[in-house]
Amino acid sequence: MNLYRHTDSRPSATVLLDVLRQKCAYKAIAVPTFQVLVPHRPALEGMWSDMLSHQLPVLPPLNDFWDALPEIFNWMMSGAPVPQRAFIQRGIGEVPVRTRLLPMNIPLRSRSDLEIIRFAAANYLCVDLAYDGSVRRIEPYSLRQTAEGNYVLGALRSDSGEYRSYRVDRIQAATVTSQVFAPRYAVELTSTGPLTVAPSTAMPRLPRIRIAARTRHQGPTYVYRCTVCGRTFNKKRMDGSLNPHKNRRGSPCYGRYGAYVRTKY
Ligand SMILES: [Zn+2]
Repeated sequence: MNLYRHTDSRPSATVLLDVLRQKCAYKAIAVPTFQVLVPHRPALEGMWSDMLSHQLPVLPPLNDFWDALPEIFNWMMSGAPVPQRAFIQRGIGEVPVRTRLLPMNIPLRSRSDLEIIRFAAANYLCVDLAYDGSVRRIEPYSLRQTAEGNYVLGALRSDSGEYRSYRVDRIQAATVTSQVFAPRYAVELTSTGPLTVAPSTAMPRLPRIRIAARTRHQGPTYVYRCTVCGRTFNKKRMDGSLNPHKNRRGSPCYGRYGAYVRTKY
């Protein structure tokens, strides 16, 4: 599904269908349709949390995943065009930023917030954004550089649907929520998001197999720095909790929480 959503990297329907046919032929099963999957829903419901909660910082509701499947199947089987959404409103002189290699003048703190926002955008999840001393819930869409050289996040307020842009260097905190949004514009932040998938593992077959296979061994590493002793730790999940450890002088450290530093791919 992520492959389908990422407009830039989406393969053609024919290619995807071809791969699916080959996989099914190899296992001697018929190419599934959405109707064939329907009876499996209760089983999937039971496993959904177990399968994914270790791999994602926030678990998207199964309903949203499920509801997107007919459109994906329809697209794959019929070659029907994918609905194209307009880009969110753009200020004068603003240039979209699609690379994740950001200039050094963007503070470290903002970089980690951007990673969180990218993750949320790729999964159509709202973000609670702390900015100007208060928190608002937003739908993240784009990252752009203004004519003045500032980086701004383009977003809609989740409550009013109004467009807002936020200076990246002024973002105080960003938290992924479990609230899904139905995009009203093209989500531009996904193309280099952390959840890109190799084509052969991203087919709408039985979802659980695909999801488990694609994230288990090739996920990024999240680096956290102990807030007490300053040692850094590599983690497979976006989770800042730390086990008991020793500081650099070899004495036990009471720090149990790491601040996010960066993501290694
Ligand atoms: Zn420590």
